[in-house]
Amino acid sequence: MADLSTQVVEVVGAKTAALLKSEFEIELVEDLLRHYPRRYEQRGALTDLGNLEIGDHVTVQAQVKSFKNLKNAKGGTRQEVVISDGQGSLTLMFFNQHWREKDLVAGRQGLFAGQISVFNNKRQLTHPEYELLDDSADVNPDDYAEAFLPVYPATKKLQTWTIERSIDLALTALGEIEDPLPADIRKSEGLIDLDVALHAIHKPTSLEQLEASRLRLKWDEALALQVVLAKQRHEEDSWPAIARSEKPDGLLAAFDARLPFTLTQGQSEVAKTISAEMAAGHPMHRLLQGEVGSGKTVVAVRAMLTVVDSGGQAALLAPTEVLAAQHYRAITNLLGPLADRGKLGAHDEGTGVTLLTGSMTTAARRQALLDITSGQAGIVIGTHALLEDRVDFFDLGLVVIDEQHRFGVEQRATLVGKAGSDRRPHVLVMTATPIPRTVAMTAFGALDISTLSELPAGRSPITTHVVLAAEKPSHLARAWERIVEEVQAGHQAYVVVPRIASQEDKDLKPGQRQAIALEDLAPQLTEGPLASVRVGVMHGQMAGADKDDVMQRFARGPAHEDGIDVLISTTVIEVGVDVPNATTMVIMDADRFGISQLHQLRGRVGRGSAPGLCLLVTEAPPFSPARERLAAVASTNDGFELAALDLEQRREGDVLGRNQSGMRSSLKLVSILRDEEILDQARIAAVNIVAKDPELNSNPALARAVQSLIDQARAEFVKKS
Ligand code: ADP
Ligand code: MG
Repeated sequence: MADLSTQVVEVVGAKTAALLKSEFEIELVEDLLRHYPRRYEQRGALTDLGNLEIGDHVTVQAQVKSFKNLKNAKGGTRQEVVISDGQGSLTLMFFNQHWREKDLVAGRQGLFAGQISVFNNKRQLTHPEYELLDDSADVNPDDYAEAFLPVYPATKKLQTWTIERSIDLALTALGEIEDPLPADIRKSEGLIDLDVALHAIHKPTSLEQLEASRLRLKWDEALALQVVLAKQRHEEDSWPAIARSEKPDGLLAAFDARLPFTLTQGQSEVAKTISAEMAAGHPMHRLLQGEVGSGKTVVAVRAMLTVVDSGGQAALLAPTEVLAAQHYRAITNLLGPLADRGKLGAHDEGTGVTLLTGSMTTAARRQALLDITSGQAGIVIGTHALLEDRVDFFDLGLVVIDEQHRFGVEQRATLVGKAGSDRRPHVLVMTATPIPRTVAMTAFGALDISTLSELPAGRSPITTHVVLAAEKPSHLARAWERIVEEVQAGHQAYVVVPRIASQEDKDLKPGQRQAIALEDLAPQLTEGPLASVRVGVMHGQMAGADKDDVMQRFARGPAHEDGIDVLISTTVIEVGVDVPNATTMVIMDADRFGISQLHQLRGRVGRGSAPGLCLLVTEAPPFSPARERLAAVASTNDGFELAALDLEQRREGDVLGRNQSGMRSSLKLVSILRDEEILDQARIAAVNIVAKDPELNSNPALARAVQSLIDQARAEFVKKS
């Protein structure tokens, strides 16, 4: 008798076991039984031999008439077997299987199943499946014909029928097994038992049975995942954190007094929540998701100042140098004299604000590191450079991560670890890509979620149009004129291109058109339609200082003598860039960008009081999915609506980015996008289970499932790093 933890080799023999291990890392009976069919084939309804159509999947009941063993030209053999049901006849064709002669003896009755093909003008079944009927056989021909045949994920070396045979052996050997799903959940959710489900997913006899088994097995995955997250959360909550509370007449109060606008209601509410959580003695873990331009930064700055007021430091991690530099400028601007502590004439309540990026000069970096270590810098803003070992905080009280989806969990962990070995900082992560709650939970781990759904008042809506460059070239010409007019009216514009340099022709896929490249377009525009305005160019391969220079000149704008009016750029400006005077954006080859990316990009305009205009230029053919995508982006400014559409069109892997990918790859049946309800229910169950029994002592089967998920995630992580 085998159970789920029996080694596969004890059930299937050494050779197959070795293949299962090398091809699919299957070692235990459980691994094997959870290697679910990719799809099922039906043998096909019972058919008369008189009316067979080419290509049909059929099952026929017939009698063997003759068996011929023939030599092939190339040295192999083939077996031609003629069967008949009295109305018609059909040839069964096998290759190199002469041993079938002892099975397929003339006169025997059987059920034969396969797909009808034609050879030498004769209809035949190649390598059919069959079941011979004799007096003792208890095969019901109708059941046989309608059964679902599992088709497994397979490889060249390990084919689906070998896997099927191994699974048959395992199912036969399987004794009583422990069910990791607690009985009360099975009952309340109406789920079948594990052993029933494992049999049924491999050998379903009806669609209903298959559905019931899939639902039950999805729950296994959902619950294990949610228990891992609940345990993580439970563990994190058990760490102490220093309570950081607002101080009357402190920096935060001075900041609020300087703020040139009032917080939106959403901002105030989130601020209140954050303030209450940071005032508690255990760490906050909050995800702040908000529409592009909804004002997440101010919320983060207020949280950082609260921490500084209580004597700690706050770190803000940004995914790119452009963004880090811009945050640095925006935050020092918002703080004004409050950001000058240490300087002559500085405000009493001020604090140091320090930028740390990879491209800084050695001297500047040394000074920054010193300020961080000494605590001079109350607010530290940086890129991945913040994660390096030598970055050592004096008292890290809050970690803010901007555009969370650009980072992996391990990077978050590195920064969080810098608060010291005996406590944790508070953590606030921010994302402008709105995603459904269950996806966020699964992708970003055990976080509480706040959402900013309204934009600050006074924003003018962005209007978006699709420009058909090939069909209506005059519309593109008009776009450039429009930019010049905007500049004449004192505004600025972006032109976004998908590539820096053009591709080599050999790198293009067949039928693929060359994408518009920055290197080609920039001179065309500056010598042509944009000759009268000041154009700057920016892309990701420029040196950090150069990017920064261009960005600053663009931010200074038209009024300034070395300002830039129009910025031609790749997607380095995709996230976060904030120049409120920019009103127009032209996106070239817009069909090459994803929905969320386009939405992010156009969020760069219309950030001030003047209305924003975004033109999506495309040469995609009419009625293509790309054109539909662009039409969708043009039709709404609702980021959540677009995100939902985007999720539908993309694979989950892209959606989740690098986060928790180890966990994700263990989800075989459950879909983070489509099984929201199961994941939600499982989360409630998991939190309950972990609260009562964090070590899962009372449910060893669940403990094992959870451990195996953690091991898989870890193995996946080791592979990546
Ligand atoms: P995002 O959420 O996309 O990061 P930002 O924090 O960059 O948005 O905010 C976008 C712009 O809106 C900034 O210029 C910011 O100063 C401004 N802003 C933020 N909150 C408000 C508010 N309550 N009223 C008016 N403007 C605001
Ligand atoms: Mg932002």
